Amino acid sequence: MSSSPGPPGPPPALGDVFVVAAPSGTGKTTLVSMALAGEWPDPGPPEFSVSHTTRAPRPDEVHGRNYFFVDEAQFEAMVAGGEFLEWAEVHGQLKGTARAEVHDRLAAGADVLLDLDVQGVESVLAVMPDACAILILPPSYAELEHRIVERGHDRPADVARRLAVSLWEIERYPMFDYVIINDDVERASRELKSIIVSRRTLLARNQARVQAIVADFRDALEPVDPPPSADSPDPPHSPPIPRSEIP
Ligand code: ADP
Ligand code: 5GP
Repeated sequence: MSSSPGPPGPPPALGDVFVVAAPSGTGKTTLVSMALAGEWPDPGPPEFSVSHTTRAPRPDEVHGRNYFFVDEAQFEAMVAGGEFLEWAEVHGQLKGTARAEVHDRLAAGADVLLDLDVQGVESVLAVMPDACAILILPPSYAELEHRIVERGHDRPADVARRLAVSLWEIERYPMFDYVIINDDVERASRELKSIIVSRRTLLARNQARVQAIVADFRDALEPVDPPPSADSPDPPHSPPIPRSEIP
């Protein structure tokens, strides 16, 4: 079925920020890239915020796609210049989200997805309390250990360092809005996509468009006065009642 043109309305709502965290080795990179690569309804997938880091690139990583790889002096200059929305030392390396990666895209109405550690999620929620925080968990500690070792990216000391902070990270679960358990990466990536797509229909995000449609109906129809029912004794045409105030 083709869609009909709606009434001329205001521009689309501002985009949402999605912050996704997981203990290292959970499979977050894998499932985020699977979720973003699939088919998406309009206006497409969220845009991935590429972080800056002082970590050396892994063999398959590309500057500007996975990270902006910078040295410590460059990173410190960005910190001093107030260029980061958040930054943290993560597993012994500096990592940060440049404001430019996020703000311009939001203003253009795009959703933005940030792949962060738990400290980064905390910092973003402090300045953007409406951001949607998603925690990805491995099914068990043994499975996390297995995945991070099998991945083969990190030296044993780095593996131990990453595993050592995993309990601290997952104990911060109450600050998240959603949790995805990555026991099956296909299902987990579908769940991530569903969370993002469903946020697009939140009333709070669509107020201006809804009001434009209601105004269109007001232009087309005369108001009618249905009698108040026993269940709803409010007088007709009383102002709309926010759901939180409905007894
Ligand atoms: P993270 O980004 O969370 O550090 P990665 O995406 O690099 O983790 O994944 C770590 C390893 O786990 C990779 O070898 C990946 O192929 C594997 N992996 C990811 N998801 C699953 C899963 N559901 N089941 C088994 N292995 C997985
Ligand atoms: P890795 O070194 O495996 O790529 O990433 C390690 C951790 O750093 C992951 O949890 C990842 O989400 C996190 N990370 C990546 N970029 C940023 C960032 O810009 N800020 C913060 N706080 N964490 C980040």
